[in-house]
Amino acid sequence: MNDPQNPSLAAIVQRASAERVFNFSPGPATLPTEVLQQAAEEMLSWRGTGVSVMEMSHRSKEFESIHQQALDDLRELLQVPKSFRILFLQGGAIGENAIVPLNLIRRASAEKPKADFVITGTWSVKTEQETRRYGDVHIAASSKEQRYVRIPDVSAWNLSGDASYVHLCTNETIVGVEFQQVPDIGQAHGRVVVADASSHILSRPIDWDRVQVVYAGAQKNIGPAGVTIVIVREDLLGFAHPLCPSAFNWRIVNEHNSMYNTPPTYAIYIAGLVFQWLKRQGGVQGIEQRNIAKAKALYDFLDQSAFYRNEIDPSCRSRMNVPFFLADESRNDAFLAGARANGLLQLKGHKSVGGMRASIYNAMPFEGVAALIDYMREFERSAA
Ligand code: PMP
Repeated sequence: MNDPQNPSLAAIVQRASAERVFNFSPGPATLPTEVLQQAAEEMLSWRGTGVSVMEMSHRSKEFESIHQQALDDLRELLQVPKSFRILFLQGGAIGENAIVPLNLIRRASAEKPKADFVITGTWSVKTEQETRRYGDVHIAASSKEQRYVRIPDVSAWNLSGDASYVHLCTNETIVGVEFQQVPDIGQAHGRVVVADASSHILSRPIDWDRVQVVYAGAQKNIGPAGVTIVIVREDLLGFAHPLCPSAFNWRIVNEHNSMYNTPPTYAIYIAGLVFQWLKRQGGVQGIEQRNIAKAKALYDFLDQSAFYRNEIDPSCRSRMNVPFFLADESRNDAFLAGARANGLLQLKGHKSVGGMRASIYNAMPFEGVAALIDYMREFERSAA
């Protein structure tokens, strides 16, 4: 049984669990160890079926139960109203940058399709550029001139009256700004707000009176890359361009309960385990309190230091992605090497921003943030 040459699966899982480090990657990102352990235990034979989830027909009753449970749990966690549909697609958030206009941009006018954009960082720029291939884009506001350190005040947004939708990126993963609240921009008058929530979905509640479409790639707060979540108000399902691929046509996908084509079954299974883990953490309300505590600890530490700095306006700092700089950038490599040696991985900032970035998604425990702060304090002291 305890032959070191031939360890049991339980022994392998136990040893690998002890090797785990704090991984601050922006995505694919850290997952709860409990979830990975459960997946390891269920890998070869899912609940007595003799097959792994990867090997099951997506039409089997076993997979259908996994799929439906994941949909139900996600609906419960985000308190998605009945009037919204939850779709599991593929193609990631960049795929959605084309899929959203293909489904929605003709809503207001098939002749002059148009979307409004609020530009708050790298990802909203990228989305806006892709959207231009499908219709006109109107920039209602942009913080580019302020180097994206704050979200433009809603009173200064110049929204057009005839756009099919307004696009927001509600958490900018690279620059590190986050909408603390989606503004009420008159959806009551027929405006449709589309939110790219890839990097903060499930970290805080969503106000469904203020957004009508939410999309997110999975690989930050949900599970492995490969499944893309789209949550869309039901009355917005019928506007797709005739050339929209069927597998990306929200109406068709909805009619088939996200089984129009073979869904990314294993990614959905892991996402489902993450949803169950989240429910054990007290749901979105519970995890939000932990996220607030983690972000506060890290920003408070940065703000009291002259050695490190975060440049984002405190009113819109992201709870999920915390970029920071060393005052002396010549120490960057030493900082990263020391971090790695202390089991703190993936802290290098995005190449377009430089410096460092700590991504502290739902699955990053408070201890990970505390270990990062301890290391940063020690690095500063040893550099003095
Ligand atoms: N939007 C945001 C906010 C993101 O953070 C990312 C990925 N980092 C994307 C879009 C692109 O996602 P994907 O690579 O899954 O297409």
